[in-house]
Amino acid sequence: MSMMDVVIIGAGAVGSAIARELSRYELKVVVVDKNEDVGGDASKSNSGIVHTGYDATPGTLESRLVVAANPMFDKLAKELDIPFKRCGAILTAVTQEEYELLPELFRKSHKNGVYDVEMLTAEQARNLEPNISPEVKGGIYIPRESIVDPFALVVAYAENAAMNGVQFKLSTKVIDIQVEDGKVTKVVTDKGEIPTRFVINAAGLYTDDIAKMVGQCDFTVHPDKEDYAVTSEGLEEIIESVRRLLPAASPKDTITQYSGLRPVKTPEGYKIEASKEVKGYVGVTGVRSTGVTASVSIAAYVADILADEGLDLKPKTNFEPYRTGFTKFNELSWKEKDELIKRNPLYGHVICRCETVTEGQIVEAIHRPIQAKSLDAIKRRLWAGTGRCQGGFCSPRIVEILARELNVPAETITKHRKGSEILTGPNRLGD
Ligand SMILES: Cc1cc2nc3c(=O)[nH]c(=O)nc-3n(C[C@H](O)[C@H](O)[C@H](O)COP(=O)(O)OP(=O)(O)OC[C@H]3O[C@@H](n4cnc5c(N)ncnc54)[C@H](O)[C@@H]3O)c2cc1C
Repeated sequence: MSMMDVVIIGAGAVGSAIARELSRYELKVVVVDKNEDVGGDASKSNSGIVHTGYDATPGTLESRLVVAANPMFDKLAKELDIPFKRCGAILTAVTQEEYELLPELFRKSHKNGVYDVEMLTAEQARNLEPNISPEVKGGIYIPRESIVDPFALVVAYAENAAMNGVQFKLSTKVIDIQVEDGKVTKVVTDKGEIPTRFVINAAGLYTDDIAKMVGQCDFTVHPDKEDYAVTSEGLEEIIESVRRLLPAASPKDTITQYSGLRPVKTPEGYKIEASKEVKGYVGVTGVRSTGVTASVSIAAYVADILADEGLDLKPKTNFEPYRTGFTKFNELSWKEKDELIKRNPLYGHVICRCETVTEGQIVEAIHRPIQAKSLDAIKRRLWAGTGRCQGGFCSPRIVEILARELNVPAETITKHRKGSEILTGPNRLGD
C-alpha cells in the first residue's frame, strides 16, 4: 500500500466515526479491522441508547464527550439517514433507598451540564409510563435520552466515510506497529504492511494489545474477550431486574438473547490522547459504556488531536455529508411499493417473511460502498433473520443471493467470519 496519513485500527462505532470525520479533509485514510464486516465487537451488542450524560462522573472526559454528543444526533441522523428517536427516559425509584438518592442524582445531572431533567412524583411517573411498577415512589425524567439503531449508525458512518474516499481493509488483523526513531512508520497486518504517519488505536476490547505493540500500555482491558456465552443465571438476573420496573414484562416476549462485552479498562475512564513518547500514535481507550453515543464527539476530538500533532486538516471542497439509508420496504405505502416493484421486480420477492425483507433490498445491501458479504452483515443492515423464525426460512435463500451477487461458491458464504460457513460442500444450489 502507498504511504497513508492515518491508519485507524477498528471499524466499530468509534473507528468508523473517526473515519467519517477525517473524510472531511484532504487525507489518505485507511480503516483496518480483523472482522469480516464493519460494526465492531461492542458496537454490535449494546442497548442503542444515545445518552445525555446525566449520570456520568462530573468533570471527566467521558462526561464532557457524552454531554456534547447527544445534541449532535439530530443532524447526524438526518445526514446519515438512520433510525433515531428522542423517546426520553425515566429513572425510577422503586425502593425507599432509591427514592432518597433521587435529589443527589438530580444535582449530579446539573453538575454534568444536563439541566433539562425533571423530578417526578410517583403519579407523574405512572402517567408517563402506565406499565411502570405500582411500587414506584418517584423518579427523574430525562427528556433527551434517545435511541438509535446502533448497527445502522456504524454502517452509515463507514459508508459515508468510504463515499468520501476512506479505504476499508476488512478481515485484516493488525499484528504489529513499527516505530523508528520514536515515530510510527508502519502498521503490520496479516495481509501486508501499511506505511503511515499516524495510527489511531480504536480497537475496543483489544486496545491494550495494540497499545503494547508501541510499548505504550499502562492499562488492562478486563473482560474475557471471546466469551459471549448467554447464561441462564444472567437471564434470570435480567428478567428479575426488568420485572422490578415493569411487572408485566415476560421472557415470552423475547425471541432470542445476545450478550456483549464492554471495553472497560483499569484504570477506568476514557483516555484519548497522542503519545508523548511515540510520535504518530493516538490511543482511544476506555470507551466502555457510552461509546455509541460519544462516537460522534470522540471523532471531532481525535481530529483536533491530530491537528495539534501536526497533521494538516485541509477541508475537502467536495465532502458529501449525506448518505441514503437502505430501502425500508415494509415502511413504504402500497403505492410506493408498487412503483418500486415496477422499477425492479426483485423488490416484489419477499425473502424474510417475518420482517418483510425483499430480494431487492438484499441485492442493494451487497452492492453498497461497504459490501454486506455474510448472513450477519445482511441481518444487521436489513433485520432479515431477526424475526420469529430466526432465519430458519430465509437463511438458505440469502446464502444463495450472496453467492450469486458476489460470484463465489455458496459454501464460502459465512454467518459472520471464516469458520462459520453455512454449507459444508456443494449442494443443489451449487450444482
Ligand atoms: C451490553 C452493552 C450495552 C451497551 N449499551 C450502550 C448504550 O446503550 N449506549 C452507548 O452509547 N453505549 C453502549 N455500550 C457501549 C458501546 O457499545 C461501546 O462503548 C462502543 O461500542 C465501543 O466502540 P468501539 O468502536 O470502541 O469498539 P468495538 O465496537 O469493539 O470495535 C473495535 C474494533 O476493533 C477491531 N480490532 C480489535 N483488534 C484488532 C486488530 N488487532 N486488528 C484489526 N482490528 C482489530 C475489532 O474487530 C472491532 O471491530 C454498551 C456496551 C455493552 C457491551
